Amino acid sequence: MLKFINLKQETPVKRSTSQRKHDFNEIYDEFITDKAKEQSSRCSQCGVPFCQIHCPLSNNIPDWLKLTAEGRLKEAYEISQSTNNMPEVCGRICPQDRLCEGNCVIEQSGHGTVTIGSVEKYINDTAWEQGWVKPVKAKKELKQSVGIIGAGPAGMACAEELRKSGYQVTIYDRYDRPGGLLIYGIPNFKLEKFVVERRTNLLKESGIKFVQNFEVGKDKTLYQLKEKHDAILIATGVYKAREINVPGHDLQNIFPAMDFLTASNRKGLGDKVKLFDDGTLNADGKDVVVIGGGDTAMDCVRTSVRQKAKSVKCLYRRDRENMPGSAREVGNAIEEGVEFIWLTSPKSFIGSSIVEAVEVNKMKLGEPDSSGRRRPEIEKGSEYKIKADLVIKSLGFDPENLPKLFNAKELAISEWGTIKINLKTMQTNLDGVFAAGDIVRGASLVVWAIRDGRDAASQIEKYLQSKIRKNKSERAA
Ligand SMILES: Cc1cc2nc3c(=O)[nH]c(=O)nc-3n(C[C@H](O)[C@H](O)[C@H](O)COP(=O)(O)OP(=O)(O)OC[C@H]3O[C@@H](n4cnc5c(N)ncnc54)[C@H](O)[C@@H]3O)c2cc1C
Ligand code: SF4
Repeated sequence: MLKFINLKQETPVKRSTSQRKHDFNEIYDEFITDKAKEQSSRCSQCGVPFCQIHCPLSNNIPDWLKLTAEGRLKEAYEISQSTNNMPEVCGRICPQDRLCEGNCVIEQSGHGTVTIGSVEKYINDTAWEQGWVKPVKAKKELKQSVGIIGAGPAGMACAEELRKSGYQVTIYDRYDRPGGLLIYGIPNFKLEKFVVERRTNLLKESGIKFVQNFEVGKDKTLYQLKEKHDAILIATGVYKAREINVPGHDLQNIFPAMDFLTASNRKGLGDKVKLFDDGTLNADGKDVVVIGGGDTAMDCVRTSVRQKAKSVKCLYRRDRENMPGSAREVGNAIEEGVEFIWLTSPKSFIGSSIVEAVEVNKMKLGEPDSSGRRRPEIEKGSEYKIKADLVIKSLGFDPENLPKLFNAKELAISEWGTIKINLKTMQTNLDGVFAAGDIVRGASLVVWAIRDGRDAASQIEKYLQSKIRKNKSERAA
């Protein structure tokens, strides 16, 4: 260990842009074994591991790096999976620059972080290849059942943890495939779908029941589901796209990001997608303008490149330093030929029935607002037009109105529409109904959804055990 002084940081080889622009495969190659060992040996094994502190799952990173450096991969895998239900997913798509790697002591000292995410991916991909990843075997089957609404990372992590303890778990999801945003949001070039599918298959083999094409609120109300189960978890994510209310916003060929990404992901999965096949939701040959500066916007611009758009522009109202998206993804998009137009905001969409151009204002950064970020202000008289025949809006997501949708008007929500929970018990104001993931936090990250799912599982277990104790003492009385 401690080889960071002589060994330079290396990441797995990134495929050339000329190659990767033409397919949807992941862009990083796997570490070869010697490189994984070598790169792991750069870890300084600090007494206070800041990487671990800044990992939402408190992953025991120094230990699995040491074991990898020593070639003890199976043990490294055991430790890695003990705190994370989808380590092969997090290794691929966590914004490590903001989490573990951004806080690595070696990074702070200017030597370049240990490439934690790539090693995590390597350890766990090897575990899958070697057959070390096994379905859960509950020590004892319990009678109590839990209904989980939403088969995204929060719901699936909670389900797996509850199965370990022997509870009967059913996950209900309105989509035809499990995975939530892992399957229909995040594109293949960041996370290939077989990675998600083998995880969900493992959960099925673990005895978790998946009920797909089942929308709570339409097929059953929350209360009807509650009657079937001893506890409920709501893990429905956030899906209401924020609007751009400028003139012309209702012209044709202006779409929310999720419509565009879902169509593309479905095509990748081999589905027939009418709006893609007839060219409507397909960037091929088009001048595409994506509005927004987060990770979803980055996924849209890079998907457009792969769909062979004529040109791809990304408009963002602040500057590059203030973009909310991962710096790594912005860099990847630039390499792939995306043109970023920073400090620019749409003023109107122009066209008779179909959009033909976006009229934009140039912006400057003013005084910081309540969030501490400098407020973008319009530069007067700076309007100009950008040609566009496909516009994708990516301004973030808000929660849907769940109390209305679920026919449960008593369900308490916050002023932002997210579900209110007791942060200690993760329970909503309804007895036995818990909530986790984006629907509580607002749009966040996969690693936080997993963390919430795990925490919810342990709180649900406590609740179910106390219910048994209460029943016993009532019978005894
Ligand atoms: C395009 C995009 C790219 C992203 N990229 C990254 C990234 O690179 N790294 C990262 O860490 N995070 C990324 N995220 C964020 C991440 O995907 C989410 O934070 C995470 O998936 C949230 O997990 P969740 O389980 O709370 O919800 P979701 O993954 O949204 O899952 C919720 C599930 O609930 C189901 N559901 C909703 N309503 C109902 C209902 N009424 N009845 C039944 N089922 C219902 C949905 O169908 C869905 O399957 C990205 C998000 C998007 C949109
Ligand atoms: S889960 Fe994410 S933050 Fe934690 S170690 Fe892995 S890549 Fe880093």
